[in-house]
Amino acid sequence: MIRAVLWDLDNTLLDFDVAEWEALCTDFREFGLGEFTEDMLKDYMVINRRRWQALERGEMEKQEVLEGRFREFFGFLGKDTSIAAAFNDRYQELLGETICFRDDSYELLKSYQRKVLQCMASNGTKKAQTGKLKNSGFDKIFDLCFISEEIGAEKPSIDFFTPCFEEIDKWLMEREKDLPYSGGKYLGNIKKDEMIIIGDSLTSDIRGGNNAGIKCCWYNPKNLPLNQDLRIDYEIKSLQEVKDILQIF
Ligand SMILES: [Mg+2]
Repeated sequence: MIRAVLWDLDNTLLDFDVAEWEALCTDFREFGLGEFTEDMLKDYMVINRRRWQALERGEMEKQEVLEGRFREFFGFLGKDTSIAAAFNDRYQELLGETICFRDDSYELLKSYQRKVLQCMASNGTKKAQTGKLKNSGFDKIFDLCFISEEIGAEKPSIDFFTPCFEEIDKWLMEREKDLPYSGGKYLGNIKKDEMIIIGDSLTSDIRGGNNAGIKCCWYNPKNLPLNQDLRIDYEIKSLQEVKDILQIF
């Protein structure tokens, strides 16, 4: 039985690609950098992805991803690289302002509210993720929110998950008796196979779930190939399929 669900946010519950595009276009305008084009986006995404993957492997610090990607990108475009930090600050704010739900994710999570413990488990920044939670209404739905910047470690590191598990246990001890499946009592310390992570990223969510020893559900709407040696307990194309996995509903 699943007693705790760890939801990834970006490109799982919310469409990050839409928010990213909107935020970059606005940021470019505000900083007087001219029009942001789709060709620029392609170049930016190569730089951005390379740096996030280095972070996930523990080879790069977060600031070197966040600011460093814009420094590198502006250098590539022949623009002023000294604005990278300020540009990133504003970008984090803008990211929280464009909300686009995936697969009716809001209604879905709302329907699970007070039926099972739902947590957010995200590698984003505190500024961006707080904005997204507030503007999406998810802040009123999640029972616990785990943001890597606050924890001080990133998915897929076990150092991200261990503090989450402690919080989850604490929450259950106090509140599980109110959940319909519990029969009015706390069911004891949560076991690894009673938790599931649901996310789109093999390198952060699924590898993280593998490292932590919890169940892994890969949200793979684009039908990407599984190109890594990973344990995947469930693979779904739509978030609506989650209800078949969480059989308590
Ligand atoms: Mg994601």
